[in-house]
Amino acid sequence: MTGRTHDLAAFTALNLVFITETAPPDISFATLAAAVGANMIGGLLPDIDDATSDIWDKVRGGSLLGKLIKPLVGQHRMLSHSIVGMVIIGFLSEWFLNWLGSIVLVNMNIIWWALMIGYFSHLVTDSLTKQGVPWLFPIPIRFGFPPFEFMRIKTGGIIEKSLVFPGLILLNAYWIYANYQHYIIFLKRYLE
Ligand SMILES: [Zn+2]
Repeated sequence: MTGRTHDLAAFTALNLVFITETAPPDISFATLAAAVGANMIGGLLPDIDDATSDIWDKVRGGSLLGKLIKPLVGQHRMLSHSIVGMVIIGFLSEWFLNWLGSIVLVNMNIIWWALMIGYFSHLVTDSLTKQGVPWLFPIPIRFGFPPFEFMRIKTGGIIEKSLVFPGLILLNAYWIYANYQHYIIFLKRYLE
């Protein structure tokens, strides 16, 4: 999937968790903004192993740094696209956010969840593509949905652009429409 689709999928996953919460979280605006940012980073982070990916375009001198990091994480769609990789990132980011929490006053627990929700959404959306995802790395099997490769989509292809991307936008729009009171309760706090 392209970075654009991953950004949107990460937001969609965050939105889903948000509407399934019985009460919207009572968080500061700074936490909200940081959570949306962390969610986006999480949604692109698994492609840290791809020197040409969008996440490196967003980092200055990215491609060089990407080339340095790439050998450490293996080929594209290896460790970082697996449950083991997700757990490692989970621990590293928790440690980093705890440290950051002593400097920046936002709810780091929320930020961590937003990051991990974005990360997980990346693995799910990549599972819809032909290459599949090595969820159980180092076991060298790639999983995808649907299970047959010919039924899955091509990254950056017509189905992703004309069906998956607009479909996710419609899904979010529908959720906001169907749960608008939930959003009003949440947003009202920032207007008071
Ligand atoms: Zn990926």
